[in-house]
Amino acid sequence: MSIEVKHIVKTFDAFKALDDVSLKVQTGELIALLGPSGSGKTTLLRIIAGLETADAGEILFQGNDAKDKKIKDRNVGFVFQHYALFRHMTVAENISFGLKVQPKHIRLSEDKIKAKVKELLHLVQLDWVGNRYPSQLSGGQRQRIALARALAIEPKVLLLDEPFGSLDAQVRKELRQWLRRFHDDLHITSLFVTHDQEEALEVADRVVVMNQGHIEQIGTPQEVYHKPASVFVLNFLGNVNLFRGRVIDGKLFLDHSGANLSQGGDLSNIKPANLYIRPHQLDISRHPQGDNAIKSIVKFLNLAGSSVKLDLSTEFGNELQVEITQQEYSQLKLIKGENVFVCPKDVTFCEYEI
Ligand code: ATP
Repeated sequence: MSIEVKHIVKTFDAFKALDDVSLKVQTGELIALLGPSGSGKTTLLRIIAGLETADAGEILFQGNDAKDKKIKDRNVGFVFQHYALFRHMTVAENISFGLKVQPKHIRLSEDKIKAKVKELLHLVQLDWVGNRYPSQLSGGQRQRIALARALAIEPKVLLLDEPFGSLDAQVRKELRQWLRRFHDDLHITSLFVTHDQEEALEVADRVVVMNQGHIEQIGTPQEVYHKPASVFVLNFLGNVNLFRGRVIDGKLFLDHSGANLSQGGDLSNIKPANLYIRPHQLDISRHPQGDNAIKSIVKFLNLAGSSVKLDLSTEFGNELQVEITQQEYSQLKLIKGENVFVCPKDVTFCEYEI
């Protein structure tokens, strides 16, 4: 089922939580709503679910206006971070709850409900926990049961609000990969709220980056990371270094290196810009390479990881973050306190003064 949100506005007292938000989610897509605390992610999700009403705008489910559709008729499953399981019910009773409260004329027989619970437990790979109580499960297992409970009514849309927010990093990572596989198997349309950029970039087909009640950018993980639409998106999706300089015919001229200016001809009519460069777009060498090389001192090295992260301080007193491969690190054999030269390979975002 596709979902379309058109020009949604939502105000709480005088505060605009959502300001003209529009978004189209295709059938079967997995979408991440990503943004800092208070950016309006949960409010948007709750409006789609029917738990909150918008002041203005439209919600279309498969092209049909959903405004007057009751929550139970929207065919939506929810999983919330704090949407606790019923403590006094076993896991099996929790999963079957939604099926047992359905109107009599569509309610499944006891046997069919039992079979369905078994099938769902198998789907979330927890076949053996049906008779346990929620308190006898780990946090990750509880979230998977919450997912099974949401899926029992066979929703066409799955809405997840920070579903793994309360779990530790390792379990979070496992569950998000599991959610991706799970989503692909079920071909369900899913939206999940997160403030964790890594989670959004790793799992989603497309990421909706929100800020102060509006959408900053909608794009694939690759697009939002490598081609950010604004400085906000750029900063929110990872570390970045800021330089002042000019770009002429694709060539960089950083302001610090006066020597370049003569080679670039007359640059006085070319406006300087803020140049945002990600840590992996900077090269490190022992000798100056190219005109833009900046003499820097190594302040800190983080060797734990698939790449090596360095904090440096330039001769102009600026802090830089650089990321190089383990192989580059082995060749350079860098140590803390030594002088190196940093040179930009590329620029992620160029901001010109108006
Ligand atoms: P978080 O990541 O912290 O959950 P969020 O991006 O999901 O944040 P929302 O929960 O949608 O943000 O809230 C957006 C803004 O609307 C916040 O400033 C919040 O205080 C406000 N808000 C949300 N619900 C209400 C409410 N029921 N009454 C008043 N203000 C509200």
